[in-house]
Amino acid sequence: MSVKPTHILIADDDPALLRLLRKWMESSGFVVQCAADGRQAVAAIEANCPQILIADRDMPHMDGIELCRWLRKQKQHGYVYTIVVTSHTSSDTMVEAFEAGADDFLKKPVDKAELVARVQSGLRVLELEKKLNVLAKTDSLTGLATRRTFFELAEREWSRACRHHIPLSAVMIDIDFFKRINDTYGHRVGDQALRAVAKVLQDSCRGSDVIGRYGGEEFCILLPETDESHAITWAERVRERLSRNTDVVARLGTSLTASFGVAQRLADTADPDALVDLADQALLVAKRSGRDRIVGFQSLAASTGVQSNPRAPGAIFDGLTARQVMTTIIAGLNEDGNVGRAARYFLRFRFNSAPVVDRDGKLVGILSERDVMAIMMWPKWWTTKIKDVMKRNVVCYEETTPVVSIYEFLCRVSLRGVIVVKQGRPVGMISRGSLLRWFTNLLAATPGARLEVPTSEQIPEEDGLPSPEPRESAAMIARALAREVAELESRIERESNDLVPAVVSGVSRIEELLNDLLAFSRDASVPRPSGTTAASQLTERTVGTLANLLGISHGDANDASHTLPAMWLPPGSSEQDR
Ligand code: GH3
Ligand code: MG
Ligand code: MG
Repeated sequence: MSVKPTHILIADDDPALLRLLRKWMESSGFVVQCAADGRQAVAAIEANCPQILIADRDMPHMDGIELCRWLRKQKQHGYVYTIVVTSHTSSDTMVEAFEAGADDFLKKPVDKAELVARVQSGLRVLELEKKLNVLAKTDSLTGLATRRTFFELAEREWSRACRHHIPLSAVMIDIDFFKRINDTYGHRVGDQALRAVAKVLQDSCRGSDVIGRYGGEEFCILLPETDESHAITWAERVRERLSRNTDVVARLGTSLTASFGVAQRLADTADPDALVDLADQALLVAKRSGRDRIVGFQSLAASTGVQSNPRAPGAIFDGLTARQVMTTIIAGLNEDGNVGRAARYFLRFRFNSAPVVDRDGKLVGILSERDVMAIMMWPKWWTTKIKDVMKRNVVCYEETTPVVSIYEFLCRVSLRGVIVVKQGRPVGMISRGSLLRWFTNLLAATPGARLEVPTSEQIPEEDGLPSPEPRESAAMIARALAREVAELESRIERESNDLVPAVVSGVSRIEELLNDLLAFSRDASVPRPSGTTAASQLTERTVGTLANLLGISHGDANDASHTLPAMWLPPGSSEQDR
């Protein structure tokens, strides 16, 4: 590899001396540039910064001392080693030069050997300075940029992306279960694994990418000119490379996995910190949803954006766990079941998503109405296996998780809900709706709660929503149902062409209303929950309503497996488990 020759700038108003110094320096192998005074020297430094400056003490316009002072105020350049040349050799002159920032002193008449020796000494100082700089900026274990340097470098790419409107993405990587690797194989092997990961990252990056060791086993990569979908493709490649890394596999006897969060700079992303924070939020979801996967921030964010920093929820969630707030799942989907059955299940129970389990009852994904809709144009879509269309990145929490964590998570991302699991098996769901319902029940059951509670008079009625009183609502729905039936009857009589469209739309609306009516009539006959058991009574009620719709008695949910073979039943839903 060729070493770049040292670049020296000589500033002197004496043309003869300037020529002589230039000759000496060039003959010693340096690249030399000349300036006739301080101002010219400033222009030369701004255009192409030298490593060494040899400046005459006395020059017109700007002398060597002023030039030194100016140079030391500049932050954008690397360090310039400065030698001041003068015929005044009094100690006052020397002190003045050193105070202005000079590194060395050379008296006139200049001796060639002495000049070369002083320049060589300057080069040694520069070399040391460079080494210290590298040490301060890079992580000693992996050789990657430290977190601080990462952000310094990110600043440049950030400005470029903003100025030229080019995409910029950040990828946060966290090694999965790294503590176990340390615990099982020792820290030395852990360190080797970290170095191997760093190497994979370096080998997978372009020169313009910025790679940082963000924390212990966390890495952050900035990908200029890359949007989120391309960053996800890049991350997928890295994920594969990591799992195939023979070095790591040989040492650990198993492959190493990592979780990835990816985000691109959006119009309202304030700075590199904010971009990395978005990637970090996506990483959190990757971890929560099972690890060894990539999650893009935009898959979490609604078009309205993600809210951050929710107000502290205070003491209302104190001591509450996921189990106490969740809606119990009484039936779900098997990954080998078909989508047709799942669609019927959604329609029958008015769910818009359901957890999917494997043969062992372990949570493997989630299927939503949207996933079903997306394949409805496929031939024989209803025979498609659930596992082929479900989303695998389902966010789950153990049932013992404090509710406040789930509340904060749902405030940060736009996912509508999370699954609650017990030893990997889904037992409940918590959606924004369930938190809201729990919250309003708490208010109803806690007179004088120190919370901002609107009275029913304070909630405006003019929005046209039905009254919350269940009996009244049931009556309203029954009247709407009668209107729909009458409308359907008259359309059947009037329709001279194909009856199917009219009947399908009428029957769908009637089905919706029937389901609403069932739910409201059930509510109307259940006493209002009270005291601290509000949440559990609510759950009981949900189970009861669903059991009713299933046509099975509450507590005898096992029978559902006969009527709905694509489904499974979670632990705790059968009589023996209680
Ligand atoms: P998760 O999948 O949730 O990320 O689990 P994890 O075990 O990777 O995460 P956790 O944050 O619990 O543990 C990170 C571990 O990384 C703990 C710490 O001892 C280890 N670690 C951090 N820095 C180093 C390091 O420089 N060398 C080694 N060998 N281990 C490190
Ligand atoms: Mg970590
Ligand atoms: Mg980790």
